[in-house]
Amino acid sequence: MAFESLSEKLQNVFKNLRSKGRLTESDVKAAMKEVKRALLEADVNFKVVKTFIKAVQDRAVGQDVLNGLNPGQMVIKIVKEEMEALMGSTTTEIQLKPGNEITVILMAGLQGAGKTTTTAKIAGKYKQKGKRPLLVACDVYRPAAIKQLQVNGEKQGVPVFSMGDKMNPVDIAKASIEHAAKNGNNIVILDTAGRLHIDEDMMTELIAIKQAVDVHQTILVVDAMTGQDAVNVAKDFNEKVGVDGVIITKMDGDTRGGAALSIRSVTGKPILYIGMGEKLDDLQQFYPDRMTSRILG
Ligand code: GDP
Repeated sequence: MAFESLSEKLQNVFKNLRSKGRLTESDVKAAMKEVKRALLEADVNFKVVKTFIKAVQDRAVGQDVLNGLNPGQMVIKIVKEEMEALMGSTTTEIQLKPGNEITVILMAGLQGAGKTTTTAKIAGKYKQKGKRPLLVACDVYRPAAIKQLQVNGEKQGVPVFSMGDKMNPVDIAKASIEHAAKNGNNIVILDTAGRLHIDEDMMTELIAIKQAVDVHQTILVVDAMTGQDAVNVAKDFNEKVGVDGVIITKMDGDTRGGAALSIRSVTGKPILYIGMGEKLDDLQQFYPDRMTSRILG
């Protein structure tokens, strides 16, 4: 096998220590080297790894090894528990307003992250649940983006509100909410413009939309394949625009998904869903425990 899993590695570290009943400082340090390597290989942010390792180490040293476990398994147990404490132990949903009140969801993210696709995926989920979503084309800089949203909306059987590419996104957002109120739509999902990199104009525009309409949830879409960059993007958006939850796309790729742990740790905001492919039903709920196993390998 090309890759040894973390638990196999830890079994090796503790091979000669199996009779010990308590984890000593030097045992734990040896184990932490392997844990650290596994996390860095999974693309978890270096600072996050450092803090995490310290927390695990502080907890593990001096711990009695539970009956039925060997020291390697005991360390894995502590690592998993600490990781779940960090990522949350339950799934988190996008918060909707009660009853038939209109919930406005603002979708943000860099160009290419998968924002437009994810916007349509979410609309489909809500439609299935009996909601009446409206998709709104606020990306006026790329006519192709408007078209893409319209095509995806049609595939999902969800209406798309567009005013072309001549109006500004704030006015489009405002008009879309009036349109929703008239047409009985109770979820308005704003697909905003991304840029290749974080820039002031993009942030300013998102803030302007948030000031002009009553955005209930701001959802950031990031690309798992960008690894460490995804963390910086999440930190920046959260500090400048404010984010309520994160969706990580392209988790069907060969990334271990360390971005999930880093983003949660750096922003404190929940991961809501993960994108698992290009098709419009390839969106899955985010399960922290599954991600823990994926990251640790
Ligand atoms: P936007 O610029 O952020 O709106 O990004 P798009 O929605 O246009 O997506 C960019 C590319 O990523 C498209 O080719 C999508 O099909 C693809 N994409 C989006 N989400 C996923 C995903 O979860 N997995 C995979 N493999 N591709 C995705």
